[in-house]
Amino acid sequence: MESVVPHSGPEDVGLAGRTALVTGAASGIGRACAIALADAGAKVHVVDRDAAGAVEVAKLVGGTPHVVDLADADLVDSLPRDVDVLVNNAGLQHVAPIDEFPPERFALIQQVMVTAPFLLMRHCLPHMYAAGWGRLVNISSVHGLRASPYKAAYVAAKHALEGLSKVAAIEGAPHGVTSNCVCPGYVRTPLVEAQVADQAEAHGIGLAQVVDEVFLRRTAIKRLIEPDEVAATVRWLCGDHSGYVTGASLPIDGGWTAQ
Ligand code: NAD
Repeated sequence: MESVVPHSGPEDVGLAGRTALVTGAASGIGRACAIALADAGAKVHVVDRDAAGAVEVAKLVGGTPHVVDLADADLVDSLPRDVDVLVNNAGLQHVAPIDEFPPERFALIQQVMVTAPFLLMRHCLPHMYAAGWGRLVNISSVHGLRASPYKAAYVAAKHALEGLSKVAAIEGAPHGVTSNCVCPGYVRTPLVEAQVADQAEAHGIGLAQVVDEVFLRRTAIKRLIEPDEVAATVRWLCGDHSGYVTGASLPIDGGWTAQ
């Protein structure tokens, strides 16, 4: 599907002269964020463990690729510190009931989706504090606000990220640094497309039926979200006009949490 969000160029948010770092930027929402922030004028560091994807997106946005596995805490130190906008986006999913959930998978999800964002904040905040300006945008989920069965690690990690983001908002306020979560429902990305395929096979039904009956069951707007709709909210949070928005969780969920 074509973009549903018109990109109006650098004057829209005005990130010229700013540097952004986006994790998980080789694919899906992170890729869309890298494009949207570059479109607003930022220099973008494209961080992902997927080397080919990181290089491709960096080339697309005129940014710098960093091939890093965020499950390895030591590697965070290899990333740049002079970052004005940090988008914590990298994530993964594992679906299983708690009594069958592999503990090592649970630990990995906390490492990538909670510990790495904490380490990156710790890494980049001194630069933001020195500059008196910064933006932390944490890609949470409707699952940072609500639970679903069989997603123990993911729901726990997103709820933890919500807490981390609020603490960062309070600590960052005197330094001109905002911290917010963006909470999408189901977005059309490889992460969700893989889940749709799995569910179709598990239930013996078609892909469209899985989307309608499983994924969109709780949303009022009956379509998946496009990655650039999420990226548009991320970009909006990075403008000077949104400097009073902090410690917030912005649902992009088609009415899921309104019910
Ligand atoms: P995606 O699978 O398309 O992209 C995720 C990216 O993260 C990939 O490029 C992957 O290589 C990277 N990544 C994963 N583990 C990594 C690691 N250890 N080190 C470095 N990079 C790593 O997924 P997406 O749907 O774009 O999801 C991005 C974020 O948005 C995730 O945090 C996800 O939880 C969140 N989210 C997604 C949806 C959705 O429906 N797709 C909804 C709400 C929130």
